[in-house]
Amino acid sequence: MSKKVIVIGAGPGGYPAALRLKELGAEVSIVEAWDFGGTCLNRGCIPSKAFLDTGHRVHAFEGLKKLLKEDSGVNFSADMLDWGKVKARRAEVITKLRTSLEKLFQAKKIEVLRGRAVFSAHHEVTITGPQGEIKRTFDAAILAAGTRPSFPPPFRDFKDSLSDSDRVFDLPAKPRSVIIVGAGVIGLEFACFFNSIGVEVTVLELLPDLLAGEDPQVTRAVRSSFEKRGIKFHFGKKTNAVEFSGGLKAVKLDDGTRLEAEEILVGAGRAADLAGMGLEAIGLPWDRKGVKVNEYMQTAIPEVYAVGDVNGISLLAHSASRQGEIAAENIMGGKHTFDETIVPKCVYTWPEVGSVGLNKAQAEAKGLAVKTARSFYLGIGKAVATDETEGFVQLVFNAADETVLGAQIVGGPATELIHVLALAVKLRLKRSDLKGIIYAHPTMAEAIHETLYK
Ligand SMILES: Cc1cc2nc3c(=O)[nH]c(=O)nc-3n(C[C@H](O)[C@H](O)[C@H](O)COP(=O)(O)OP(=O)(O)OC[C@H]3O[C@@H](n4cnc5c(N)ncnc54)[C@H](O)[C@@H]3O)c2cc1C
Repeated sequence: MSKKVIVIGAGPGGYPAALRLKELGAEVSIVEAWDFGGTCLNRGCIPSKAFLDTGHRVHAFEGLKKLLKEDSGVNFSADMLDWGKVKARRAEVITKLRTSLEKLFQAKKIEVLRGRAVFSAHHEVTITGPQGEIKRTFDAAILAAGTRPSFPPPFRDFKDSLSDSDRVFDLPAKPRSVIIVGAGVIGLEFACFFNSIGVEVTVLELLPDLLAGEDPQVTRAVRSSFEKRGIKFHFGKKTNAVEFSGGLKAVKLDDGTRLEAEEILVGAGRAADLAGMGLEAIGLPWDRKGVKVNEYMQTAIPEVYAVGDVNGISLLAHSASRQGEIAAENIMGGKHTFDETIVPKCVYTWPEVGSVGLNKAQAEAKGLAVKTARSFYLGIGKAVATDETEGFVQLVFNAADETVLGAQIVGGPATELIHVLALAVKLRLKRSDLKGIIYAHPTMAEAIHETLYK
């Protein structure tokens, strides 16, 4: 008899799980309370990249301007952008992708239930939605309910009057200035985007540096590039108060600084919101970090799995998808585990950032003796020809046998190139193995080649 599995949430954790379960012969249903595709497709990865693409086009145009005749009459500035069209393009991208995902589920004949799922008993969920209230029993369930933007104090008290990573996509007009709370990936991507379209950007971060956990060479390069473009940072300062006056929004920092802007965008992390999901009914504990799982993605209730943001391991779409597939395979008799060490971590700003495996400090914290090597794009032909000389490739080797432990890339197509090095980390390749590859000329990948000889 085939297994009955229910997947709660159709984001990048839930939908690949449902597809894999179907492939493996399970009787699978997926429940979605909001938009198919989850945060990633509707309010995260994809719309933010559509916004960033607008910034890239502005940037490319600025580059082209340098090659125009003095009297060309072309006088473009970011102020000429039509905010309505920028938002419409992002909506178009989302609709296209969401429609094809929904069609895929129809084609695969996977039952899609619209509404909110709640655990009503062991092995049972109740779904309340347009079809009324229906109950489904299951042999196994995958919880892929994601997270929501979180508002630290004092911003929490003004939640409805501030923007977050959900609502920023619907701002009625392009603000003239914005204060961004949080210098993590989300905060920096919005900082980069707004700066590129002519918005005055200030970033607040409680920690002493941006991109917590990243290698200091990386954070220094990103910070310096952002500052050169006029983005202002306030590190290591707490916000004591939020104020509203004369149509502006202001913050008071603990050193007495007062900053004001037309908009405040809180991008200071995400938290699980599982209240009312009936987890008490099945005795499954949770907190703002979500639900704990073992290496097989199983919660404390063995037939309930939790994947993606909701288990708090790695708040990335590709981690969610891999975990979803692992949970699906384990439900169907597999014994797979999630390898966090090979998850590429990417930031889609300019310069782009891609890192994988261990950086120097992380390797040393594990008691490993390491060697690092770095080469800069400045010396790479393709980089000079395309005027993309900002950044570097850095490799971290085990000093004992020159195995690649990790890599950090800033600039160029870092978010693409990092996959070559993810493969090196996964397969425990050595410096000599990477030297054995022939790197096409001229490419940005030649920076990897150069690094191997440092
Ligand atoms: C602005 C922004 C940019 C990002 N950019 C990137 C990026 O470039 N790359 C990257 O890897 N990650 C990025 N992320 C993170 C990425 O979006 C998340 O890691 C990913 O969406 C997590 O997937 P998930 O399936 O766990 O959860 P989600 O995508 O949040 O999906 C969960 C789904 O479950 C549904 N749900 C919740 N409760 C119920 C219920 N009771 N019943 C039915 N349905 C329910 C929700 O409606 C939601 O659709 C970004 C996030 C943000 C906010």
